[in-house]
Amino acid sequence: MLLEISDLHIEFASEDRTIRAVEGVSLSLDRGQVLGLVGESGCGKSASCMSIPRLLPSPPARIPQGKILFDGVDLLTTPIENLRKIRGDKIGIIFQDPMTALSPLHRIGKQLQEVIRLHRNVTLAESRKLALEWLDRVGIPDPTSKINAYPHELSGGMQQRVVIAMALILEPDLIIADEPTTALDVTIQAQVLRLMRDLHRKDSALLLITHDMGVVSQMATHIAVMYAGQIVETAEAEEFFRSPQHPYSQALLRALPSSATRGQPLESIPGNVPSAGNFPPGCRFHNRCNAVMDKCKKCAPQLQEISPDHCVRCLLYDK
Ligand code: SF4
Repeated sequence: MLLEISDLHIEFASEDRTIRAVEGVSLSLDRGQVLGLVGESGCGKSASCMSIPRLLPSPPARIPQGKILFDGVDLLTTPIENLRKIRGDKIGIIFQDPMTALSPLHRIGKQLQEVIRLHRNVTLAESRKLALEWLDRVGIPDPTSKINAYPHELSGGMQQRVVIAMALILEPDLIIADEPTTALDVTIQAQVLRLMRDLHRKDSALLLITHDMGVVSQMATHIAVMYAGQIVETAEAEEFFRSPQHPYSQALLRALPSSATRGQPLESIPGNVPSAGNFPPGCRFHNRCNAVMDKCKKCAPQLQEISPDHCVRCLLYDK
C-alpha cells in the first residue's frame, strides 16, 4: 500500500480550549487508485489531507494520535529534512486557489524551474526544457512566450493548469488535490478535470478532496465520505454509486443534478455541518438524518464492514 493513514486525530489548540477537528480517520490508497474524499465544507477533509505532508500550521494544529505511512515512511515522525525531500518530489499537491499557490512576484517559468532544481541535479537549460514541456502537456498555448508570464497575466483556468504542472512535473507517487476545481467556472472545471484524468499515471495515486459528488463520480476508483471529523462510509466507487448505505452519503447523492431529476428541484440536506468542538452526542449526523432513531441521539456508531470493502458508520447496521 502506498499510503496508509491509521487512527488519525487532529486537534486545534487555543489559549482556553482544544478543539478536536478530526477523530480516528483511517484511509489507504495504492498506486493506480483515485480516492475521492467527499463531504461538505468543514467536515475535516482538508485538515486530514494537509496533515499527510505535515502542512498544517503547528501550533495551533496538533496530532495527538495516529500514523501516516507513505511508502513505508512514517511521515509524522520522519525528520523535517527528509520530509522536505518527499514533498514536491514524491508527493505533489494541487491547492484550491491558484492565486495563493503561485507566487505573484515570480514568472511562472521560474517557479516551475525552481521545483525541478530543488529536487533534481539538472542545469538551468534542462529545467527550462522540462518546464516548457509541462506547460505544453497541461495545455498552455504558446509555452515559449507564456513561460515568462507572471501569474496575474493568466486566466484562473490557465493558472490552475500551471499549478497542476508544478505538482506533476517531478512525476510524484502521490498527488493530493484539494478542491482543485472549486475556484474555477464550470466550463474550465470540466477541462481541468479532464486534464487531471489524462495525466494521472497508472503507477501513481491521487487523493482528490472535494465537496462535489459530480467531480468524484467522474474520477474516483474509491470513495471515502467524511462528516463532522469522522469517516462515515468507504467503498469502491462503483459499489458506492450503485448502493450508498449511509444516510449522509445518500443525501449527498440526492443533491446531485442528474438527467433523471432534470426539471425538478434538487434536494438539500437540512441544517449545517456542526463546527468542530460542537459535535452533538450520539451519531453526529442525527439532527440532519432522515432515518434518525431514538438511540441515535445517545449512542455513537462505529465504522463497521457491512460487505467486503464497504464500511459504514450508522446504527441502522448494528447487529
Ligand atoms: Fe442516521 Fe442514526 Fe444512522 Fe446516524 S446512526 S446516520 S442518525 S440512522
